[in-house]
Amino acid sequence: MKIFECPNCNAPVFFENTICQYCNTSLGYNSILDKFEIINNNTNASVNDLKLCANHALEVCNWLVDETKNDTLCIACSLNRVVPNKSNLDDFEKWQKLEVAKHRLIYQLLRLSLPVTPKLTHPDGIAFDFLSENNYNQAVTGHVDGVVTIILKEADSVQREQLRKQMDEPYRTLLGHFRHEIGHYYWLLLFNESNLASYRNTFGDERIHYGDALKNHYKNGAPNNWNENFISKYASSHSWEDWAETWAHYLHLMDTLETANSLGVCFQPEKDYVKKLMVKHCPNPYQTEDFRKIFNANLALSCSVNSLNRSMGLMDIYPFIVPKPVLDKLIFIHSLLSKTEINKN
Ligand SMILES: [Zn+2]
Ligand SMILES: [Zn+2]
Ligand SMILES: [Zn+2]
Repeated sequence: MKIFECPNCNAPVFFENTICQYCNTSLGYNSILDKFEIINNNTNASVNDLKLCANHALEVCNWLVDETKNDTLCIACSLNRVVPNKSNLDDFEKWQKLEVAKHRLIYQLLRLSLPVTPKLTHPDGIAFDFLSENNYNQAVTGHVDGVVTIILKEADSVQREQLRKQMDEPYRTLLGHFRHEIGHYYWLLLFNESNLASYRNTFGDERIHYGDALKNHYKNGAPNNWNENFISKYASSHSWEDWAETWAHYLHLMDTLETANSLGVCFQPEKDYVKKLMVKHCPNPYQTEDFRKIFNANLALSCSVNSLNRSMGLMDIYPFIVPKPVLDKLIFIHSLLSKTEINKN
């Protein structure tokens, strides 16, 4: 995620900001022009035919909506189908946390020019159901036919950490969930008979029975050598999960590097033995054709940032090792997205 600019005073603005920290101007995010705009409070919170998303009042959104259309919700919020209301404050606050992650996801999907349409108006589109485990005790976090379900308890950091330990995962975040689940949706859009063969060459055969494969994974665990071919243990369970895990990882790397690019991060060690960590310049990943350049910059970046985290006694920010087959899968995704037809819409 890049750092934005206040249109009034040119100070840095961060993605979730609703006012400029420096000049106090009210701001909203214009997702079409990918920049922040000034909100004029005297003219019904609108500027340049833009108004704030109705969810701004619930403190879950700072995006702008085209005032000339009838929409009251922004593109990110228009994807919601079931959300908690304020009558249950605990659930409501969990939803607020989920929306931070979801807006970051939608920002990135738009950056990648992927189609983002609400299922409520387009049957092939996306819908989000944010369900409380108390009201929907059968529901699980997952994806079916464009509907992404997230169980609210994932937004409870204690429960999430417990689940992370229980599942023996090095990384579990809300943003990670969104990136993984939406990966299943884009699989449906990106693959057809004409390109399934190349998919299977890279990610294996998705026709293997999915239910049986997952049952086997939960019963027997991942194979001992999973880390030679997969980004996570779960990715080894079935081709579709390998795709979703690798897709999520691809989005992690692209977003991280965009942030580094936006901040002008560079590492120029003087000592010879750390020269391998040198990054003279972090490229903008959305304008970089060769994924190896993206990957190499990320590698040096994550080594350095992991070391910084350890200095603070924190967990590694990037707890992954990417073997060659996973790098090939990431390259596959990058080239697919750069040439595929669906992202020309
Ligand atoms: Zn300002
Ligand atoms: Zn919104
Ligand atoms: Zn999955």
